[in-house]
Amino acid sequence: MSDGASAIGVLALQGDVVEHLAALRRAGAQARAVKTREQLEGLDGLVIPGGESTTVMKLLRRFGMDEPIVERVREGMPLWGTCMGMIVASRGVEGLQQPTLGVLDVIVRRNAFGRQNESAEVDLNVPVLGGQRFPAIFIRAPWIERVGPGVELLASRDGHGVMVREGNVLGTSFHPELSGDERVHAYFLAMVDAARTTQRTIGKRSSAA
Ligand code: GLN
Repeated sequence: MSDGASAIGVLALQGDVVEHLAALRRAGAQARAVKTREQLEGLDGLVIPGGESTTVMKLLRRFGMDEPIVERVREGMPLWGTCMGMIVASRGVEGLQQPTLGVLDVIVRRNAFGRQNESAEVDLNVPVLGGQRFPAIFIRAPWIERVGPGVELLASRDGHGVMVREGNVLGTSFHPELSGDERVHAYFLAMVDAARTTQRTIGKRSSAA
């Protein structure tokens, strides 16, 4: 594994891919669009962007990408789901029998903020990003209805969870790729760096043994 910039994939089956690629590059990563199972190889981290969750889940299955993603995430590869991506990563959707990847132990509610709030920009308090509030853009956004025991709640809006982390999996209800503020991208890249360091240490230990 090289020590250069991390290779981050953005799942590009449907949704707002270009904005994520640009924001990841501005934050210092080597970012590429991922459309096939083969393109998952060699990634240090993966972003599932916003879009339409039922469509993307169907396509992931059709292209045989769902199982390899779950496997890589269980092995420690960092994953970040924004909006639809968080729905796809979650354990399930409140009130719906919608298939998901189940790698983030939360139950989400789709289109949760209601019609009047279909899209909104909210200055969020996100302590892990420092003191300055984050300009969070919500578009037909889900909120987090319930979290499992290993999940950290990183930010809330009106009393509902909108940013969570469980180990190597990050979820945001909002769209940091549209804010022109790269702090969430930088936070994810720090998770990826930490995971790469751990993998290298494990690699060294097992080759020394
Ligand atoms: N409402 C969409 C869904 O439930 C998510 C919206 C988004 O990603 N901007 O799939």
